[in-house]
Amino acid sequence: MQAVDFGADSGRTASIRTTEPEGRTMGDEHAHEPDTTVSSGHLVEVVDGVYAWIQPDGTWWLNNAGAVTGTDGTLIVDTCATEARTRRFLDAVQLATDGAPVRFAVNTHEHGDHTYGNSLLPDEAALIGHEAMRAHLLVDPIFDACPPAWEPVPDWGAVTRRVPTIVTRSDLTVHSGTRRIDLMHPGYAAHTEGDLVAWLPEERVLFTGDLLFVGLTPLVFAGSVDGALRALEWITGFGAEVIVPGHGPLAAAADLPGILDDHERYYRFLLELAAAGRRDGLAPLEVAQGADLGEFAGWPDAERVVLNLHRIYADALGRPMDLMAAVVDAMTWSGGPLTTHVCCLG
Ligand SMILES: [Zn+2]
Ligand SMILES: [Zn+2]
Repeated sequence: MQAVDFGADSGRTASIRTTEPEGRTMGDEHAHEPDTTVSSGHLVEVVDGVYAWIQPDGTWWLNNAGAVTGTDGTLIVDTCATEARTRRFLDAVQLATDGAPVRFAVNTHEHGDHTYGNSLLPDEAALIGHEAMRAHLLVDPIFDACPPAWEPVPDWGAVTRRVPTIVTRSDLTVHSGTRRIDLMHPGYAAHTEGDLVAWLPEERVLFTGDLLFVGLTPLVFAGSVDGALRALEWITGFGAEVIVPGHGPLAAAADLPGILDDHERYYRFLLELAAAGRRDGLAPLEVAQGADLGEFAGWPDAERVVLNLHRIYADALGRPMDLMAAVVDAMTWSGGPLTTHVCCLG
């Protein structure tokens, strides 16, 4: 399998055959501290003309993105959280594709780590997203000012709010020259209400967005834990040979059963925890504080247990989730602001 690395200052290469160690060594005391600076983002050509942009270590605000280039230009899959990180991604794509024009872009969902760089896409590129994704990004308060819930408090840089101009409520296929890209919605809320995956049926490459967090604690506070669990089987059905998750290292088909099993165990753990907590009349924070996270304690961003429990409680009670209350509870559980490697310099 060819592995071409564009834009990594370190000169290292990554390959889907050699999944990077930081993502799948949860709790491994020998795991090294990965470089998480702006310059650590790197482009991997997973098949000819299809690229994944991987940002170690995949924790808060450090997403993966992608690009698909055919004879008629490029489709970009997601942007990044900050101006600096998005510029670096788009520059690497330009270099790798000999300056092929960016004609299309898609947001897999509304979260800022995948969308705040949207305004850096060429004006003429058609931006696509799910209808619910567009609606949520239009009113996302974190874009205007990030609350001090993370340390350091991220600064998005010189970006403006840009939302999709083309929306779908289900599936949409983009024919970009020789490439066919199927943008598909699971049919229910999972990571968010408006998730889209980008599926290349010829090349068998699947960009899952945040339906998958490889080697990290999944986050489901904006969607549905039941839906996220259900979506695992949906992902299996694609028969993908290369999987680009929303966060964490690339995966090959052989890696997928283990990755899906990690997610399933975690979601079932959350659902059981919430059911017991509700029986005992406990609030989400009390449930999380009293829980033994067991194998999940060592997964990065473990405090997401609090946010995920808030989601289950809100769904069970049939009411909207109080995002700020959930974030404050996550900070209480953590003993302070949540750690991020995205900062004022990117
Ligand atoms: Zn994300
Ligand atoms: Zn997300």
